[in-house]
Amino acid sequence: QLTSGLETAWNKLRGVDVLTKENVAEPMRDIRRALLEADVSLPVVRRFVQSVSEQAVGTGLIRGVRPDQQLVKIVHDELVKLMGGEVSDLVFSKSGPTVFLLAGLQGVGKTTVCAKLAFYLKKLGKSCMLVAADVYRPAAIDQLKILGDQVGVPVYAEGTGIKPSEIAKRGLEEAKKKKIDVIIVDTAGRLHSLLSVLLSALVTTFNIEIGITGAILTKLDGDSRGGAALSVKEVSGKPIKLVGRGERMEDLEPFYPDRMAGRILGMGDVLSFVEKAQEVMRQEDAEELQKKIMSAKFDFNDFLKQTRAVAQMGSMSRVIGMIPGMGKITPAQIREAEKSLKIMESMINVMTPEEREKPELLAESPERRKRIASESGKTEQQVSQLIAQLFQMRVRMKNLLGVMEGGSIPALSN
Ligand code: GDP
Ligand code: MG
Repeated sequence: QLTSGLETAWNKLRGVDVLTKENVAEPMRDIRRALLEADVSLPVVRRFVQSVSEQAVGTGLIRGVRPDQQLVKIVHDELVKLMGGEVSDLVFSKSGPTVFLLAGLQGVGKTTVCAKLAFYLKKLGKSCMLVAADVYRPAAIDQLKILGDQVGVPVYAEGTGIKPSEIAKRGLEEAKKKKIDVIIVDTAGRLHSLLSVLLSALVTTFNIEIGITGAILTKLDGDSRGGAALSVKEVSGKPIKLVGRGERMEDLEPFYPDRMAGRILGMGDVLSFVEKAQEVMRQEDAEELQKKIMSAKFDFNDFLKQTRAVAQMGSMSRVIGMIPGMGKITPAQIREAEKSLKIMESMINVMTPEEREKPELLAESPERRKRIASESGKTEQQVSQLIAQLFQMRVRMKNLLGVMEGGSIPALSN
């Protein structure tokens, strides 16, 4: 629902040319509503909306990117920030076994996570042991034993009716003796007493950080859990470290804030398109270029900059694939274009700075053209072609820019 709620916001910006305080107001209300409906807390939503509005109005448009696409990107980056930005790795103690203790309400998936986590850590080369400290129901111990068997990890259990903190302590001793890297303590979730006992008993000998160090987001397969993912960091100050996305043992993976944000937005294509455009076309460059084009001063330096920008964006086919409506260009045509760009570049490379800036010099002087041909190993005809092309490009780009200024999606001419 979060995703479709946000979609309403983008749709309201279809057809606008720029983002203004006025035209983002309504989409921002949609974003606000979508976040609140996903149970993101009000103060978080307020800060979020304010930050996004400021950026939306304050940053210039990236050339070739529609305003609604740009807003998607701003919201995306803000979502990533809200979820902690980076991947947060698990922390292991330097000496002795690392203790992971799971807290959380009944039924959230703690026992399942114990086994999944062990399975996950085994793949990282860590030896693990599970400790059955949920002593309130016998079934809980059996469940852990079955899961432990399934992932090939020993389970330390004593039975019901024994203090969980005692079990945890003896489990830890056992792990130390066996030189096991990690123990994972399954609990009933009613943790305040257990945690305090466990920590007070151990804190003098082990450097254990008191309190919760991170969260695991479970059952991500059930619903998108956008709201939960967004609130954890902000509410607890602790990052989400792992996500469970299914009942199978292998369904546990690191939490990537940027992937989660992408998932919430459901617009991967738009995001990567905007990112690429951003990378390549710095705003200032674009503005300078625009002036040059409008005054027909586009020269070989600009030409070179443009071809390099395209090269930076990766293979041309990928770039073209991201531009809506460009699907009709065949791979063969793209290869041809890439080849001819290389040829052009080699000719520009042997031009003097003056010649690059004033293509007229080349148009007027057969001697210069001859020199460029011999130095670049191309024919005089190819050099003449290149020069003619630049003058053609001046006209074409001016026309193209006119179309873009009119607000429609830019189409690259071949
Ligand atoms: P606990 O009470 O916190 O220990 O929760 P359990 O580990 O016993 O899990 C409760 C139920 O949720 C079980 O039926 C699990 O199979 C199921 N479960 C746990 N993790 C996931 C998950 O990531 N996805 C799905 N769909 N089900 C899960
Ligand atoms: Mg359990």
